[in-house]
Order: sequence, then structure tokens, then C-alpha cells
Amino acid sequence: MTPIIHSELLRRLPKAELHCHLDGSVRPETLLELGREYRKPMPRDDAESLRDYMRVDDARSLEDYLARFDVTLGVMQTADALEQIAYELAIDAARDGVRYIEVRYSPVLNTRGELSLGAAVEAPLRGIERAERDGGAMARVIICGLRHMTPDVSLELAHLAVAYKHRGVVGFDLAGGELGNLASVHAPAFVYAREHDLACTCHAGEGADASYVRDAVHVCGANRIGHATRLIDDESLTQYVNDRRIALEICLTSNVQTHAVESYQDHPLRQYYDRGMNVVLNTDNRLMSGTTLTDEYMHAATTLGFTFKELCEIALNGFSSAFIPWEDRERLLARARADIAVLAGGAGGAAA
Ligand SMILES: [Zn+2]
Repeated sequence: MTPIIHSELLRRLPKAELHCHLDGSVRPETLLELGREYRKPMPRDDAESLRDYMRVDDARSLEDYLARFDVTLGVMQTADALEQIAYELAIDAARDGVRYIEVRYSPVLNTRGELSLGAAVEAPLRGIERAERDGGAMARVIICGLRHMTPDVSLELAHLAVAYKHRGVVGFDLAGGELGNLASVHAPAFVYAREHDLACTCHAGEGADASYVRDAVHVCGANRIGHATRLIDDESLTQYVNDRRIALEICLTSNVQTHAVESYQDHPLRQYYDRGMNVVLNTDNRLMSGTTLTDEYMHAATTLGFTFKELCEIALNGFSSAFIPWEDRERLLARARADIAVLAGGAGGAAA
């Protein structure tokens, strides 16, 4: 019997999230609190109105979507604020049934005040460590270079990521406005990260075409791809990415918002999954996308016809594609498999 999918079942499904931006996942209440503390006026005065304001439903482009980050970054310039925001994200993730989360951000955007780059990495690391002790999700950090900045800045950020490799940083990424900014310009940063045995992911094929994914895979050597929405347009590369088991960090709601796809139904996730590709569901930005990981699984079920069994498989892909050591992934996988068997048993046994 196929279990009836409902949000509580999907919330209880053990999940791993690999693509979540720290500066896109701040609680509205915290934005207001920090805004008062640092005398940064917020565009709305109460949490619910601010939540609505921050959710980007009408972005003209990826660049338009990214403009909302000025609001959050305005209050993310102290160690205390960064620690608190990271702490709360790991706590919120656990409530959403997320067992493991990789949180990404670009510390170069947190140094407008007094913070050094090192301090801007250490503060969120303290936050996620404290959260784990308080029942939050196990969390690790990915440091992002930015496409619209110079390659020197990306290289500096890759150095920073490597320096914190054994202290909670598990990967390097390239984010920011995609169109017109090829990842290969930032290849030295990827080379440095890879040569120091640090895993790499790269936003690609979200705000630009499949050639940008090609660039991320072949020139930058990305181990995973963020979004990869337009990868589907390149048949040969799609096959290569599938054959190499390169994980695709899929963000459905964010893609609808930025018009990377016109609707949930138009998203290539179903095609990727049916081809056996290594797909993982993510929120991208819990605040700007007004979503949770449970919501994203629900969208996959309701708009793309994913069954509970298929969603369980996607959840397991998340654990197996994480950037933590394989032994740790195996432990998380074993626990998730056991809990899924119980959940599926209670829900009709279809996913066992
Ligand atoms: Zn992203």
C-alpha cells in the first residue's frame, strides 16, 4: 500500500540539506531584533509583514532575487549576530526533520564592520556547534566565492575555506550573479581548494544556460552542482553528470521565483530522477523563498508526482552526497535507513 503523503510524514522523514544560504535563512524576528540593536531600520516593523516582504515572489531575474540579501547582510556584521543566526538555523532545521545541513555563505560580505574574515567564519561555527549540543541539526559550513567579484577574492576565500577545513568547513562554492560571469574565471580558487583535498560545489545553470554547468563541471571540477536547472538542455553533459554521480542540489521554489523555470511542473527534477540521477532537495533560502525543506518535499510530491518511496530515496541521496567524510555519511545513512523503515512501516510499508 502506498502511504498517503502529508506534510507531517515528510517532516518526520530524516532529511539532509546540502544547499542553504545563511544570509537567506534568518528568522524575521531576529532581523527585527538585530535591526533595533544595530540601528538598521528594517523595511517592515512586525515579523509577519517582514516575512512577507522578504519572500521574493516576483523576481525579474536571479539578480533581482539577490537584492533582498542587502537587508539581511545589513545586520550580519558582528560575531554575535552571525553566531545567533547560525545557531537558530540549525535549531529550525532540526524542527523541520533535517538531521544534517550544510550552511553556505560568503564571509567577505560580513566584513563591512570590525570583523576579520577569520572571525566571520569562527562565529557561525560556534553557533552550529552550540546548536548541535542543544538538539539542533548536525551542521557544517561551505564557504562561497562570488562570481561578480574578482578571481583574487575567490582565491582568498578558497584559502580561508582550506584553513578551516578541519574545524567545520567542508567545502568551497561559487555563488552570485551567474549570467556573464563564467565560473572558469575563478578556476584558480577551485584548483586551490581541490589540491588541498577540499570538496567543491558550484552554482550553475540557474541564471544562465547549460554551458555554465559545463564550465563548472569540466573547468572547475565541481563535485556537486547547485541548481543545475538548465543542465537538461545539454544531453551529453547530462549523461556525463549522471555517469559520474555528480549530485544536483535542486531548489524548486527558488527556481520558480527567479524564473529559472516557469512553474514547479516545468522543473526538470522529474526527468533527472527518472534518469537515475543523483538529485537532492534543498531550500536555497528559507527566508527569501518562504519555505522549509518539508515544503520542498511536499512540492515534489504534489506538483511532480513523487511517491513517498521516491522521496525517501532523494532523502538518502542527501546523506550520501554530503561533504563530510564517508564514514560519517555511512553512520548517518544507516540511521536514516532504519528510521525510514519504521516510518514506512507505520505508513503502509511501501518504502521498506
Ligand atoms: Zn544558492
